[in-house]
Amino acid sequence: MDAQPDNTESFIAKEARYGARNYAPVRVVVDHAKDCLVWDVDGREYIDMMSAYSSVSHGHLHPRIVAAAHRQLEKVAVTSRAYYGTTLGPLLEKLSEVTGFERALPMNTGAEAVETAIKCARRWGHRIKGIPDGRQRILVARGNFHGRTSTIIGFSSEQEYRSGFGPFDGGFQHFDYGDMRSLKAAATQDTCAVLVEPIQGEAGVVLPPPGFFRELRAWCTENKVLLIDDEVQAGLGRTGKWFAFQHEGIRPDALILGKALGAGLLPVSAFCADDAVMQVFSPNSHGSTFGGNALAAAVALEGLKVLEEEGLVANCAAKGDYLIQRLREVQAEVRPLIRDVRGRGLWIGVDIEPSCTTARDLVERLAANGVLSKETHDTVIRFAPPLTITTELMDRAVEIFRRVCHEKQRELEAVST
Ligand SMILES: *Cc1c(COP(=O)(O)O)cnc(C)c1O
Repeated sequence: MDAQPDNTESFIAKEARYGARNYAPVRVVVDHAKDCLVWDVDGREYIDMMSAYSSVSHGHLHPRIVAAAHRQLEKVAVTSRAYYGTTLGPLLEKLSEVTGFERALPMNTGAEAVETAIKCARRWGHRIKGIPDGRQRILVARGNFHGRTSTIIGFSSEQEYRSGFGPFDGGFQHFDYGDMRSLKAAATQDTCAVLVEPIQGEAGVVLPPPGFFRELRAWCTENKVLLIDDEVQAGLGRTGKWFAFQHEGIRPDALILGKALGAGLLPVSAFCADDAVMQVFSPNSHGSTFGGNALAAAVALEGLKVLEEEGLVANCAAKGDYLIQRLREVQAEVRPLIRDVRGRGLWIGVDIEPSCTTARDLVERLAANGVLSKETHDTVIRFAPPLTITTELMDRAVEIFRRVCHEKQRELEAVST
């Protein structure tokens, strides 16, 4: 029997045939990648303007990070936290240096680090603030995205994420993102924490109104409530500063990191806080078999050094300003197709006028023309390339975006005349 060679169709068919249907991927079968470029199984080249939801901030397979992984693979990869190792301590020390927090608790996925934050906040609320155990409440924003565990989706305001997955255990109260009045109205004596994204990514790259975080910071301090900042997507340079909270001139009580912490190679996340908060964890109160494993720690440590030493954080703001400006030029040319271009650093949402088309339609056309992006909800295309992207590559991507938008515009005009 002649085996058919594998190709785009057969790889897609296998995932569709044997996988759960919890994703609807763009029809690109990625074979390999290097820095900001990706190639499919047929050898077609794409510019990665998505970087795995900001996990690949260092570019694909950064040579220094791959080398660090290789070195560690010659030694030991996984021991569990039953023992000490030679890479975790240095990673924790480096995390403390870049975040300014005294301690960090390593996990693997972002959702696990969020779960860690929730447990920490509740225990802190009981033991330090004196809320009766079981009554602690955490305030969360409408439109939030903090991951996919059953606890976390229990406080999502997105029906698609929740429907049919109940019962949910409660303990969360909603406020309108960016609205202090709504937050104050939702708070009670049992409020132990506010869990919030500095920019709402999945909601469509939604920026907070100026001053919101400063007011929130002051309110949290006054009311003895922890301000927990989920920077799983925003952190580590994406917005043009190491952490998005730095744009707001505040310091949260705890910080959640993930995605880019794994430097584009592995799932690595962390919950960071000062001892006054982290002290609530005692041996056996929390853990993770793979959290902080030797290989992950070596990769994450090298990733932090690369961000720093290659100036990726320092250059991100200027690159982001340039990209937003170029995208706004396209917006002006194709009115009314694009409603809004917004973002901070290399994290940009392009909001599509729903009466013209869907974001998904344009995402598919972009892919067909060699640019990888991803829609969020029906109307927003998100561009979040690796922080290593060059002006030349941004220009190429914008040119393709321009062509795709003009083509769409012509189709719409043809229909309406
Ligand atoms: C992606 C994301 C998470 C969840 O991370 P996973 O690694 O997918 O579990 C949590 N919070 C924010 C803000 C995110 O963007």
